[in-house]
Amino acid sequence: MAITLDETHDAKRKSWVASAQGHSDFPIQNLPLGVFSSRGDTPRGGVAIGDDVFDLKAACEAKLFTGDAEKAARAASATTLNELMALGAGPRAALRKQVSALLAQGTEESKRAQPLAGTLLHKAADCALYLPAMIGAFTDFFAGIQHAENGGKRRGAWPALNENYKHVPVAYHSRASTVRPTGVPVRRPNGQRLVGDDKLPTFGPCLKMDFELEFGVWIGNGNEWGEPIAINQAAEHIYGYCMLNDWSARDIQRWESAPLGPFLSKNFGTTISPWMVTPEALAPFQIAQPARPEGDPKPLPYLWDDTDQREGQFDLELEVLIHTEGMRTKGMPPQRISVSNTKHLYWTVAQMVAHHTCGGCNLEPGDIFGSGTISGPTPDNYGSISELSFDGTQDIKLASGEIRRWVQDGDDIYLRAQGKRDGFVAIGFGDCCARMVAGKGV
Ligand code: CA
Repeated sequence: MAITLDETHDAKRKSWVASAQGHSDFPIQNLPLGVFSSRGDTPRGGVAIGDDVFDLKAACEAKLFTGDAEKAARAASATTLNELMALGAGPRAALRKQVSALLAQGTEESKRAQPLAGTLLHKAADCALYLPAMIGAFTDFFAGIQHAENGGKRRGAWPALNENYKHVPVAYHSRASTVRPTGVPVRRPNGQRLVGDDKLPTFGPCLKMDFELEFGVWIGNGNEWGEPIAINQAAEHIYGYCMLNDWSARDIQRWESAPLGPFLSKNFGTTISPWMVTPEALAPFQIAQPARPEGDPKPLPYLWDDTDQREGQFDLELEVLIHTEGMRTKGMPPQRISVSNTKHLYWTVAQMVAHHTCGGCNLEPGDIFGSGTISGPTPDNYGSISELSFDGTQDIKLASGEIRRWVQDGDDIYLRAQGKRDGFVAIGFGDCCARMVAGKGV
């Protein structure tokens, strides 16, 4: 896991790209990877820098890269980043170093890049953003222990956590085909659900629409079928991170989930932030996995690695904001309804990778994991509206005078994440936002 801090993390390094000055999400210390097109041209790999996008293909054609970085930039010139991700950590780190040098003020490299700014940079406002990779598989974990406990209490379970929870990183295989990048509206699904005190199901639109605040993990190079990834090798396979809203139809979920778990309640849409924030960019925000409470079992050996325990978790501030149609009409800004932090996760990402593959399942470049909903210990930290409204029994009062118990049509839900640490420049993940809209009848 250990990533060396270097000149790319230096707080004094500034970019000659004007829009990157003081940018809260994409300063030169971040440099996340994504796929964009500008004014309708062919999608290709880019790097977010301030309010601009740095064109990796154009930079490659201008022969600005050498060695492994050149190999990475060439792979990133494709319409998805799967090929780049398959190259793994080394070329990614080399690319970051050279992009940072090209975009920094006062470097030799910048003298070659800055005169080409007209072809290398595109205004993000003029760009379309896509999923950064063709997603082969999407696995959703359940590593937010407070969310798991809150769900158990809601169901009246005692103990609130299933007996396996502290032993096994619980997950299910979710749906890759319905993952969309920020900005794409999500349609309210129809399905079977019990309404009120009904004993029999009816078919119709979901009446209990929820969001889930999750941390997303992109897989880079995969493993061979039948060959588990040891926990101390997991970092080699993790390519980047995003924010992920696992939209959830709670009424459909409750009726359909026995005994095999969620299906239609989770497969109608998932929203992600389209910029992959790299492990190198997050290195300053790595922390030790918080100690397990007294009495919790020690994970089995295949889930335990001292280095992972020492630095395998992240300290990232998370937020959920809502922007209703009423707020937009009144010209009001989005309103924050939850704050949380990745440090509330009970399992590290390396533990998820080790567990996912321990039976021989192969991961592939472009696979994505969700962490599970990241709630904190107090109600203002809850990462889903079902928790914030105590399963739809309490009003959430908004500044616009509106109330919410569930997500309504026309609501924009934003997830945000930011890393902050003294001595380092803060970085963010960019938007992860989608509007819930009315579904289609059948
Ligand atoms: Ca989830």
